Amino acid sequence: MPSSSHYDVIVIGAGPAGYIAAIRSAQLGFKTVCIDDWENNKKTPSPGGTFVNAGCISSMALLESSKIYHLLNNDISAHGIKVDNLEIDLSQMINRKDSIIASLNQQISHLFNRNKITSIHGQAKLLASGKVEVFEKYNNKKSNFTAEHIILATGSHSTVLPCAPIDDEFIIDSTQALKLTEVPKRLGIIGAGIIGLELAGIWNRLGSDVILLEAQESFLTSPDQQISDEAYQIFTNQGLDLRLGARVISAKKGSKKVILEYQDSEGNHTIHLDKLIAASGREPNTENLAAEDVDLVLDENGFVHVDKNCCTALPGVYAIGDLTALGPMLAHKGLEEGIFVAELIAEKHNPINYDIIPSVIYTSPEIAWVGQTEQALKAIGEHYKIGVFPFSASARSHASGKTEGLVKIITHAETDAILGVHIIGDQASELIAEAVLAMEFSASAEDLARTIHAHPSISEALHEAALALDNRALHI
Ligand code: NAD
Repeated sequence: MPSSSHYDVIVIGAGPAGYIAAIRSAQLGFKTVCIDDWENNKKTPSPGGTFVNAGCISSMALLESSKIYHLLNNDISAHGIKVDNLEIDLSQMINRKDSIIASLNQQISHLFNRNKITSIHGQAKLLASGKVEVFEKYNNKKSNFTAEHIILATGSHSTVLPCAPIDDEFIIDSTQALKLTEVPKRLGIIGAGIIGLELAGIWNRLGSDVILLEAQESFLTSPDQQISDEAYQIFTNQGLDLRLGARVISAKKGSKKVILEYQDSEGNHTIHLDKLIAASGREPNTENLAAEDVDLVLDENGFVHVDKNCCTALPGVYAIGDLTALGPMLAHKGLEEGIFVAELIAEKHNPINYDIIPSVIYTSPEIAWVGQTEQALKAIGEHYKIGVFPFSASARSHASGKTEGLVKIITHAETDAILGVHIIGDQASELIAEAVLAMEFSASAEDLARTIHAHPSISEALHEAALALDNRALHI
């Protein structure tokens, strides 16, 4: 007999994957509960997961502040504007970020209310298919909930490096790196991946000397090589000290400094830093997710094993977002899986196209891409063509003073199908949407070339890159 603790859908986790799964489930008429344990430093519930509370949104808020400071401190005189006595008020910068987080927490709570989703602040554990135990810390109460469908969306956390144990003061993770109370003079970052680069840019613009230590010999292996090469040039010109092939062996606190040892092809090196950020990857939050006797299968890397429909081996139990190895660890991938699973439960099968998921690195300039890289196509012997357009040839980019970077389109040599689009430049995160749409609609590069783009606009760079495939670019 249904009771007040019986639901159609239980969602565990209110990050982008979970809260969207809850909203879509409720929209489809399911009685839905979403359970999440994140709380802010005032000990109040903070739905939104890492994305809202300690990741992308924080990073983006500080990215914008740091870009404004850098502009005012460096390039503003070119606009004929003089600024004197410029100062950083870091606590106000962090307060602004925190108020953005708070308003997004509220927005999610409001959406839960509007969609009649029960929201519970507590820790949930899967007891069996259809059964979840919830521990509410604030009143020390345990209760059981049942549902036909359970969606696991507990996200991920920073990987702990045994060689650099986090001490929350000198050696910190990416969450703590977004709430520093002063700008470190000499900042080290382990890992020149997406998180490492985003944080490096923020603190470099705010005045830190940043050293990035990256174990791999090559820089940024996920994007297209040409884009990574361009990024390397731009970031080193900005002053980032990028040390490749540098594997950190140990980091420990000395007297008010971090003493870090790393190894590269020339041997061992020791450096002293004011702060060290460990940004060496993320891993899924599976600890205490299921009771010991529950057969929730994990893969060899600790991700929850799912089939292509996000179904675990347990009947009626799904896993989405960073918790699974299905697709990249990206907020928008999780969000789409939230919609997908809710619709699957409602017997609407709208599969996700995992081949056309855009990736963005929120550096300045931004890096964004979708589809295949030239190196991957070369490796499989594909016949392809390339069209490149640099922003230095764009009138709009000149007007805004942001001429770094390029757009690269790769097409199939015979069919003209768009195989990949790669961008480094101002607003790459917005520009990539046109490429995603074109690929989703199976447009050819010629379709892009024949689409009228506003002149002058940054998006013309895509138009010109499409024209460049056939040596018809107009401004190069
Ligand atoms: P990452 O895998 O992108 O980069 C980590 C880097 O650390 C790797 O290049 C690795 O070689 C290096 N490393 C590991 N151990 C090391 C050692 N001992 N010494 C030196 N280098 C070492 O991981 P990340 O940057 O932490 O990001 C984690 C995940 O979060 C990624 O999947 C990313 O896609 C996702 N994410 C995405 C965004 C975004 O969409 N903009 C933002 C944040 C995070």
